[in-house]
Amino acid sequence: MPLLQTYTFKNLFFEATRLCNYACPMCMASSNDVKLVKRSRKLELSTDEIEQHILKTVSAIGVDKITWSGGEFILRKDAVELVRRATEYGYSSVITTNGSKMTRDMLLKLKKVSNDTVVIAVGINSIEDENAWTRDTDCEQSLAVLELCKELDIRPNVVVTVGQHNLKTVGQTLQWLEDHQIPYNRSPYTARGYGREYWETLKFNKEHMRDTIHPELRKHPNGYVSFTPFFLSPEVHAEISGGVSNITVPQNPSIGCWCGTWLAVNAEGDVAPCGILLDDIKCGNVRDMSFQKIIDESSVFQSILDRTQLKGKCGRCRYQFTCGGCRAMAYYENGDVMAEDPTCFFEPEDKTTVSEHELETNRGFKKFVNISRFADMIYTKKVKDVAPLTSGKKDKHKSEVP
Ligand code: SF4
Ligand code: SF4
Repeated sequence: MPLLQTYTFKNLFFEATRLCNYACPMCMASSNDVKLVKRSRKLELSTDEIEQHILKTVSAIGVDKITWSGGEFILRKDAVELVRRATEYGYSSVITTNGSKMTRDMLLKLKKVSNDTVVIAVGINSIEDENAWTRDTDCEQSLAVLELCKELDIRPNVVVTVGQHNLKTVGQTLQWLEDHQIPYNRSPYTARGYGREYWETLKFNKEHMRDTIHPELRKHPNGYVSFTPFFLSPEVHAEISGGVSNITVPQNPSIGCWCGTWLAVNAEGDVAPCGILLDDIKCGNVRDMSFQKIIDESSVFQSILDRTQLKGKCGRCRYQFTCGGCRAMAYYENGDVMAEDPTCFFEPEDKTTVSEHELETNRGFKKFVNISRFADMIYTKKVKDVAPLTSGKKDKHKSEVP
């Protein structure tokens, strides 16, 4: 039975097209597959459908930011118009790009139609060129876009997809981003789309996480928004966030696994709880149902929103709510979106087991919160009538946004 809650999902990740001028061999949107892209383009949401089924409606569940992605989003002829309409509806826009067509002229147009609020996100797997093959280009192009953004006073963001292909350089890459004060998101390499071709050889495991990836992630607060395992004390998050949560998934800011506080839509309108689960998990289509109905009626969303249902060690962990474990890694390894995160090296006996990294995580989180307040990512209103993070299903409540 649906829980009939009122939710606050702040971010919508929208892969508005599969069309791309590159053919990266592990593309998760399968944009390197010419036949698949051709089929997809016939079913792609049109400009007016995007307005009707997304821009007009998604604010009802709290979304105030749209990340436009692809494929290469700006290859859509209506890309600038979509950002303009999104701005008119009150959304801020983040645009992910491979950089090849992100000219000065295009950046200025996007800056203008977004009322100066657009964020440009580029992918850098490694600051070294050694794994250029993973993106069908080297990182010079992304660096050139970052340089242009700096010159034009446009906020940048970098997505670092982590796998065995860049284990050796991930520390160097994150340090470079930190030195240049560029916020980043780590994205795990998974078996979505053409990622499946290299899954067995490039996926990282818990030892890679323990010895290489996690030590780097936890020391750079600019990327504290989304990674797992995330050893944030539930008490610290409750104190700073004012207890804001979607059923059991804490937010304000979202931390650990974002599943349950953001949404993703593919080019054909199918909705999933994370961009990395698109195509493989379909919770409903925006052409058929409202976002509220999709969330209420999808068993996947209802499970993901109730972290008391997490299995294995994620279900008995002190960080069950503030981390939650990567649902995409769980799915691609076990075929079960609620299974334990296979890349987590923490071995909790029960909820009293505290990670040796908790204090460092708490400190980094507080630094991150200061950055987020500056970037308007933390609500300033206190939310009343919310249950503590450690409870399971809750009474009806409304999470407020400013
Ligand atoms: S499933 Fe969660 S942790 Fe994994 S990539 Fe998606 S939001 Fe991030
Ligand atoms: S066991 Fe699961 S919830 Fe706990 S820290 Fe590891 S991934 Fe996170």
